[in-house]
Amino acid sequence: MSRDEEAIAAPRPLRLWEVAPKNGYALALHGGAGGRIEELSQESRTAFEAGLRAAHHAGTAVLSSGGSAVDAVCAAVEQLENDPLFNAGRGAALTTDGCVEHDAAVMDGERGLAGAIAASRFAKNPVFLAREVMERSKHLFLVRPSAELATAWGVETAPQDYFITEARVEQLARIRAQSGDGPRHGTVGAVARDARGNVAAATSTGGMANQTDGRVGDSPVIGAGTYARNEIVAISCTGEGEAFIRGVVAYDIAARMRYLGSGLPDAVTQTVETELTARGASGGLVAVDAEGRVTVAHNSPTMFAAFDGDDGLVLLT
Ligand code: ASP
Repeated sequence: MSRDEEAIAAPRPLRLWEVAPKNGYALALHGGAGGRIEELSQESRTAFEAGLRAAHHAGTAVLSSGGSAVDAVCAAVEQLENDPLFNAGRGAALTTDGCVEHDAAVMDGERGLAGAIAASRFAKNPVFLAREVMERSKHLFLVRPSAELATAWGVETAPQDYFITEARVEQLARIRAQSGDGPRHGTVGAVARDARGNVAAATSTGGMANQTDGRVGDSPVIGAGTYARNEIVAISCTGEGEAFIRGVVAYDIAARMRYLGSGLPDAVTQTVETELTARGASGGLVAVDAEGRVTVAHNSPTMFAAFDGDDGLVLLT
C-alpha cells in the first residue's frame, strides 16, 4: 500500500479540537478520515496541505465578504472536488466496475432545506448538483441523476475520463490483487457559520474504493453524514459510512445539543463513543455551532482538515 493511501482502520482514542468563536463567521473543512496509518511523506503532506489551504481560503473568502454559509461550504467543497488528491469529484475512488460514482449533499440551516445526489456519474462538481436539487427540485434526494438534468440546471458535466485518475486505477488494481483486503475510503466536507448567524454543511465523496456499483454511503444521507440546523449546529462527517448511517451520527450530535442541552464538544465526544467507537467504526467530522464555535474530531488514526485555530490556520494531515 502506498504511504498516502487510505485503509479501513480500527478506532483509536478520540482526538478533538475546539475553537472559540472569533470573527462572527467560521469555517471548518475536512478532506477525509480514510484511516491511513502511515506518516505522509513530506512531499505528499505539502500537496495535501496546499489543497486544504486553497479550499479553506475559498470558503473564507465568501464569508469575509459577507457571503452566506451555503455559498461558503459549496466554494470550499468545490476546490476539494477539483483537487485529484481527495476522494471527491476528480480523483474519486473507483467502484468494482472501475467507475466513479459520486455522492454529495448540501444542507442550509437557515431554511431547513437540503439537496442530495447519489451514484452521480456526470456532474463535474457534485456539490453543485446537490445544491441545485435543493434550490430547484421538489425532491430532496436524487439517485443516478442524468447528465441532461445537470445541464438543464446549468451544472457543468464531465465524462468519466475526467474523474478517473491513474492513481485510482492503480489503487483498484492493488485492491483486486489483495484478496481479503478491506475497502479504502475518503470524503470531503465543510461547515460554516456566516456573519448573519446562519449555518450550513456540505459533503462530497466517491465512497469506498472497490465498492459495489450503486453502494451509497452516509455522505448524502441527511442526518447521517451531513446535517445543519440554525440555532444548533452544522456537521459534515467522514468515515465508515455504514456505521454513520446506523448511528445517524450527525443528527445524534444535533439531538444531544438540542434536547439535552449539551455543548458541541461534549455532544461530539458522546456520539463518537456510543455510535462509532462502540461499533468498532472509525471516522471523524467537522462541526460549527450557532455561535461559531468549531469542533473537529476523529477516532480514525488521521483526518485531513483545515480550520482557524487560536494562532492561525490549523492543517491536519
Ligand atoms: N463516508 C464515506 C462513505 O462511506 C467514506 C469516507 O468518508 O471515508 O462513503
